[in-house]
Amino acid sequence: MLRGTKIENNKNISVKTKIKKYDKPDYVYIPLKTYKNNKFDVLVKEGDYVLKGQEIARSKDKYDFPIHSSVSGIVKEIINKNYIDNKKVKSIVIENDFLDKEEKIGSKKKINTYTKEQVIEIIKNCGVVGMSGDNFPTYYKYNHDLKINKLVINAVESESYLTSDFVTLSIRTSEILETIDALMEIFNIKECVIAIKDFNKRGIENLQEYVGSYPNISIRVVKDNYTLGWEKYLIEYLFNIKVKKYPMEKSILVNNVSTIYSIYKALKYRKPITQRLVTFSGNALKNPQNIIVKIGTPINEIIDSIGGYKKNTNPIIIVNGPIMGNMIVDDTTVITKEVAGIAVLDNKDNIEEMDCINCGKCINICPVQISPVLIMDEKNNKNIKRLHPEKCINCGLCSYICPSKIDLRKKVLDKVGK
Ligand code: SF4
Ligand code: SF4
Repeated sequence: MLRGTKIENNKNISVKTKIKKYDKPDYVYIPLKTYKNNKFDVLVKEGDYVLKGQEIARSKDKYDFPIHSSVSGIVKEIINKNYIDNKKVKSIVIENDFLDKEEKIGSKKKINTYTKEQVIEIIKNCGVVGMSGDNFPTYYKYNHDLKINKLVINAVESESYLTSDFVTLSIRTSEILETIDALMEIFNIKECVIAIKDFNKRGIENLQEYVGSYPNISIRVVKDNYTLGWEKYLIEYLFNIKVKKYPMEKSILVNNVSTIYSIYKALKYRKPITQRLVTFSGNALKNPQNIIVKIGTPINEIIDSIGGYKKNTNPIIIVNGPIMGNMIVDDTTVITKEVAGIAVLDNKDNIEEMDCINCGKCINICPVQISPVLIMDEKNNKNIKRLHPEKCINCGLCSYICPSKIDLRKKVLDKVGK
């Protein structure tokens, strides 16, 4: 049964535009934060010259993980700067010398010639993370002795406005297939399914052109249903297998398609993630498009570089899309690895929250069958527990559907302290 709903996807706005590159920030601000890691050893000091791709900090906090410079230039200082969750994070400021000097990293290699251990080490040291919003260190998914039976490549990209996964898959099809094939060979994975939404005609055509050479990789075209981007639900839809906590409990590993392309660059060229493709879209932007940007570039600079905001609009900026994303309060916040897109929307329709009219729509739409309105209204902790707010998957559909414009997702997550 398909749970969730079809949402207005607004993808045509950016999907066919030419890809632009913005690589001229005077300064980049590299946040000392990765997934749940907050404690870092800083490896550079004020006045040091750094190369693009140089490791400038390392965390041994929850996950061993490096932070790299995205430009060559001079380290200026460490400041507190707003992160995409609107909290302040220590960030290393580097003045760009526009020379893009890189560390010498040896010749390119056939990517299927590595051992498991080498793959894990390389993708860790290149800072590969989940590129669709979670920022989870990718090496961790492969770093165990469990058998992986199925690899699922999530190219569904459910969020409204975002097309960076769609475009990456369409223009890097052969590299993505080559990487999947190498991972399957190295980790002895028998089957791979690439899940792609029916909307992405170009991606499907390109995959069909090449996939014949890979008998163990298949394509599953999925409906334009919002919740199919959620990995647990995608697995249930594809294989009729229910996952309680993590896909690996069923020997299934899920990677986002843009993450696979980052793995390719890491294995082929030993290139750390210093840039990424980001969708800039929405009705308050003059020229929506997909742009390759350096990690640590302020969002307002990039928006200026494509013509800025439309006249007579009252723009709001939402990182990673309006349904699941987060509205930022400061447009000098920088692009990080997990930023797949920026929706810039005219706030004229964004009317004030009104009183609940008890329509029940939020209850009917919730894919995990909890009751957002009841959770919002409940004050007693014991009663809240019985309503299971912890089951919330943060999909945002309740806020999307609510006619009274109540941000139910936030209210539910607040009750569980997420
Ligand atoms: S309560 Fe959570 S899971 Fe349910 S619709 Fe709202 S955000 Fe999605
Ligand atoms: S969708 Fe909004 S208005 Fe309708 S019951 Fe839920 S909270 Fe109330």
